[in-house]
Amino acid sequence: MSPNRVDVQRDGSEAPEAALHRLYGYSRFRRLQRPIVSAMLADRDVIAVLPTGAGKSICFQLPALMREDLTLVVSPLISLMQDQVAGLRHRGLAAAELSSATPVADRSRAEDALAARELRLLYASPEMLASPRFRSLCASSRPGRIVVDEAHCISEWGHDFRPSYRRIGEFARAVGRPPLAAFTATATPATRSDVEACLGLRRPLRVVASVDRPNLHWSAARVRGLREAIDRAGAEVLTSLRSRPGSGAILYAPTRRTAAQAAEALCRLGVRASYYHAGMDPDGRRHVQDRFLAGDLAVVCATSAFGMGIDHPRIRLVCHCGMPGALESYVQEAGRAGRDGERAAALLLATPRDRRIHALLARGGDRGSSHLRRARARLRAMIGYVDTSGCRRSYISSYFGERPPACSGCDRCDGAGQRLPWTRRLRFDRRREGRLPAGSTETEET
Ligand SMILES: [Zn+2]
Repeated sequence: MSPNRVDVQRDGSEAPEAALHRLYGYSRFRRLQRPIVSAMLADRDVIAVLPTGAGKSICFQLPALMREDLTLVVSPLISLMQDQVAGLRHRGLAAAELSSATPVADRSRAEDALAARELRLLYASPEMLASPRFRSLCASSRPGRIVVDEAHCISEWGHDFRPSYRRIGEFARAVGRPPLAAFTATATPATRSDVEACLGLRRPLRVVASVDRPNLHWSAARVRGLREAIDRAGAEVLTSLRSRPGSGAILYAPTRRTAAQAAEALCRLGVRASYYHAGMDPDGRRHVQDRFLAGDLAVVCATSAFGMGIDHPRIRLVCHCGMPGALESYVQEAGRAGRDGERAAALLLATPRDRRIHALLARGGDRGSSHLRRARARLRAMIGYVDTSGCRRSYISSYFGERPPACSGCDRCDGAGQRLPWTRRLRFDRRREGRLPAGSTETEET
């Protein structure tokens, strides 16, 4: 391949396509990867919203590996950082990670390598940025760029706000303000502009992948309780597996106990199923994940802990027994279906206890009433998705600030949607939610 003039680096290195092939074995970039890589190589700020499976990590790993200097990657997902660093090191690349989970010996090795400017990629948890030692090491080694993964965590509008993420902009200035790149899988326009403002991005390249997945069929229903949700999910799983032999399904449950119960119920139906949650030891979790990826398990019943970095192409159904607290999380979890581009289904079974649980969760922590208000706004949008009488695909696209696409499949457009009478339950929930602290008003509940 003859290198394109524009692509030749100052040090005479290869074109991104050649580097992609050499380092990853791919012959071409996926859609949207190339402009991001070019912008990063040109030291331009970037904000990118790319769904999982779009090849996000290549967008920042490749430019990092094509350069001589250090790329600092801030990520809250410790196991994902560990996996990525292990993968890079396996290929002989100079990468390290620093987080609360890093063993002391590894930590000092990483710090020594940082001080000696030997690293190309350093992954760090946001909490590390508060460490004076880490800050002074970074200030003297001057990272060439800072990548912020899961960037929606910066914004109070995001569905997973982390106060430590607010410090990244200030940290970047303290270490010489290198170019910044923010990545996330899902973000509304409000979240995106908050991320840009908080990081102080300068004329960034903005890349936003459409949230619409034409091959996914969206449906939702209200059920009377978790038992009914599990029964119905079991029937849907059986139908899905029978119609597509060799396929897989994920069943999301609201609690660890329900995940285990659902797996048990599926096993009784003769389905090769197991469960996965954050309460299991790492080996147990890895074992379940590996068996699922190998096709040895057809179904994993899991809490939201499952799925980070999972790129299983043959998942035909993602069924939620219980409603997530935000459409952002729901779309991300449901989007694990149909990664191969073939038809797949996302079914959400809402139970009467969902909104009560999320209202209580939103109270957790000392984050003030604005946090609570936003959490409740997200919950309202999620409830709106369940109850909408219109197209579900349009609902999702509008929420993420996109023009509604023509529907390629949802229960409302199929005419098969059902609105179960639930008035009595709703009144019950409102009474319970009357106990919520100030900041929550009845008008917010509709
Ligand atoms: Zn529709």
